[in-house]
Amino acid sequence: MLTGDQYLQSLRDGRRVFVNGHAVPDVTAEPLLRGPALAAALGYDRHYRPGDDVHGPYFFIPTSVDELRESQERQLHWDFPTISTSASLLMVLTAASRMRAQHPEYAERALAYFEDSKRRDIRIVQGITDAKGNRALSPGKQDDPDLYVRIVDRSADGVVIRGAKMHISSAAVSHDVMVMPTKRMKPGEEDWSIAAAVPLNAPGVRVINASFAPRPDLDPDFYPYSSRHVMTEGLIVFDDVFVPNERVFLAGELEHSATFVHSLGLWERLGSVGSYVRLADTLVGLAQLVAEANGLQKIPHIKDKIAEMITYATLIRAAFEAAMSHATFTPEGWASPDELFTNAAKYHAAAEFSTMVRNLHDIAGGSVLTAPSLRDLQNPETAADLRKYMRTMEGVDADYRMRLFHTIRDFTADSYGGWKHVTVIQAGGGLYAQKVVVTAHFDMENAKALARETAGISASGEVLSGLERLGPHGYDPSGAV
Ligand SMILES: Cc1cc2nc3c(=O)[nH]c(=O)nc-3n(C[C@H](O)[C@H](O)[C@H](O)COP(=O)(O)OP(=O)(O)OC[C@H]3O[C@@H](n4cnc5c(N)ncnc54)[C@H](O)[C@@H]3O)c2cc1C
Repeated sequence: MLTGDQYLQSLRDGRRVFVNGHAVPDVTAEPLLRGPALAAALGYDRHYRPGDDVHGPYFFIPTSVDELRESQERQLHWDFPTISTSASLLMVLTAASRMRAQHPEYAERALAYFEDSKRRDIRIVQGITDAKGNRALSPGKQDDPDLYVRIVDRSADGVVIRGAKMHISSAAVSHDVMVMPTKRMKPGEEDWSIAAAVPLNAPGVRVINASFAPRPDLDPDFYPYSSRHVMTEGLIVFDDVFVPNERVFLAGELEHSATFVHSLGLWERLGSVGSYVRLADTLVGLAQLVAEANGLQKIPHIKDKIAEMITYATLIRAAFEAAMSHATFTPEGWASPDELFTNAAKYHAAAEFSTMVRNLHDIAGGSVLTAPSLRDLQNPETAADLRKYMRTMEGVDADYRMRLFHTIRDFTADSYGGWKHVTVIQAGGGLYAQKVVVTAHFDMENAKALARETAGISASGEVLSGLERLGPHGYDPSGAV
């Protein structure tokens, strides 16, 4: 396994990285990227154990519901590149399992890649989202064929790929990107049907980054959350990058062009839902704390808003649990979360997030935005004024209350908060992506049978009469008390 220092050293590998208008010779020294690199280094140090045959708990394939639950619980304490590594590898193994019967060579390569990643203790990011050009047109119909990553050359040893993957979380501070088609490809689009693991320092790879990272001179008391939790996303360009065969998991087989994105969607969304359980509970906690600090916790409309937030949080938790306890198993015995519950939970968490933040802002009041800096509380010229006017009652002093407001602003209404609003909706695919999956996995036949029974119509469309109309219950169970 690698230590944090060895990991930081491993990022000085000749990769071509850019941010804010300049090239970055060393990501570990770049103010906007250093935070995510240090967070990942801390993760390495936390997991490190000496020895040749030890490996991190993120290189783990769950084979039971309990193992699935334990691995998801563990993830909540990991940095993003580590979470992403686990999801990428489970994705490639799930896809391999689905392809094994037709393409055993890809399944073997996927397993070998898993073992090699484990041995080298690398971090892997997920490269799904293409540039996509005109969204109304498929890859083969774009005016520039590179708007979706594609194969531009093939040889006995491997393939050469060209294109770009957008918004890739933690790309600048990881080792490999797992490239895969963003959607199902049609006949004639074989070259866009490519899945492969590409090193981020491979010749021809460039990573252009964005980050909400607070600037280095900002006060951590004013940014209590985002000063500790920094992310970066990168636009990864593949400028005729050679990928050797052992790293290629799909190269033109249309029937499996969507297998990877479906498998990744499942693992990525389950991980997100696990983190949204915590996110939703945190929103409830902030709402309750600020209501108490303002003396509002017994006011009916405040209690009502908090109850709505509790229901939101509890339904996410319930669906997360259901997704794991209804896991299915591959022929290899690997556990996969339930598609319907995972996607319904992700949809619910994302679609209602802004309503929950609205409740929090409504409860908290305008000081979310206007509470002065804690530095003003230390300035002798302003300290007494703030102590007098920012306190509310015995036990709620200015320092405590101002810290609450700064946390709510930082977490939900500032640079990080804005990032979170969009991320909850878009990361793992927009709301529509989850609707497609829930529609495919819902038991529609059962729903139709219930609807027919309610209408008093048989499966063949005949109107039922007499006792038949009463159905198996003989009464309406939804109205029974
Ligand atoms: C912070 C963050 C981190 C991310 N991390 C990653 C990552 O690590 N790896 C990765 O691969 N991606 C990542 N993503 C990308 C994310 O998956 C995409 O943003 C998302 O899938 C939407 O794609 P898009 O941004 O290109 O928007 P668009 O595709 O332009 O979508 C915008 C809207 O248009 C709709 N739409 C688009 N095309 C069609 C169509 N043909 N028919 C009907 N509706 C359509 C979409 O459903 C959506 O509602 C990340 C995104 C964010 C914000």
